[in-house]
Amino acid sequence: MARAHAGRRNPASGKPESRLSDGRMSFVTRFAPSPTGYLHLGHAFSALTAFDAAQSAGGRFLLRIEDIDQGRVRAQFEDAIFEDLAWLGLAWEAPVRRQSEHMGEYEAVLQGLIDRQLVYRCFRTRREVAEAIASAPHEYGDVFTGEALAQEEEAARLQAGEAFAWRLSLKKARAALGPAYFALVFEDETGPVRAEPERLGDVVLARKDFAASYHLASVWDDAQAGVTHVIRGEDLREAAHLHVLLQRLLELPQPMYRHHRLILGEDGKRLAKREAAATLRALREDGKTAAEIRSMLGLG
Ligand code: GLU
Repeated sequence: MARAHAGRRNPASGKPESRLSDGRMSFVTRFAPSPTGYLHLGHAFSALTAFDAAQSAGGRFLLRIEDIDQGRVRAQFEDAIFEDLAWLGLAWEAPVRRQSEHMGEYEAVLQGLIDRQLVYRCFRTRREVAEAIASAPHEYGDVFTGEALAQEEEAARLQAGEAFAWRLSLKKARAALGPAYFALVFEDETGPVRAEPERLGDVVLARKDFAASYHLASVWDDAQAGVTHVIRGEDLREAAHLHVLLQRLLELPQPMYRHHRLILGEDGKRLAKREAAATLRALREDGKTAAEIRSMLGLG
């Protein structure tokens, strides 16, 4: 059974550690950027929001480098993350967790799910998945669900070296958890929310030659780091519905969630990493100070 945050115990001492010595709840949060581009105002807002929350709760602020996608990650972007965040006035604990250094852990977690038959191999390409959904909306809604192929067909496709993804089977997850599946609840800034993992369908947790997806690695890492409060943009609000299911299946403690508004560009759209003008380095070169960035973001 996953433990709620309030029941968290220190694995070493076995003592509950949900409260600080002065009686407040412990508070551990993090900022988890991917070094695939320069940080922009949206990242600054996220990092500062989490950092300020930790400060005002007398808690801890961690930094995690989400660098699983080695095809897109660049060392220069990772260096820039440290530099830009320090310039913003943030301080974080060492050592910084780098996902690329923990691939073996994600593989072991995935293997556990494979052994429990909670994931299945899906050989459909992204396009085939989209086509399946479009052709049978009554069956799928707008997300994908499927199941493992018959053994012989799967063996033949593996033999042929076909690519596949490991998808979480919601059907199997429901069977494994029984009524507890329907009682999954998490807390966010709006109060208690009933988790509805079906909103995301059978999500890809790993690819054939790529151990872990964001979902699997992020849920695992938050638990390893003892994160009690996940603070991130509201673009990831839906993901929480899946993350709490993964926490339950993996018997990990469940953090609290806070999803903050997104910072939009002048065109009203979400900022993207390639929008050079909004990168923290461009703003810094333009003569802006960290205090000015805070006030631009309404963080005074
Ligand atoms: N690397 C993810 C991102 O940049 C972090 C998401 C999270 O905070 O869980 O969007």
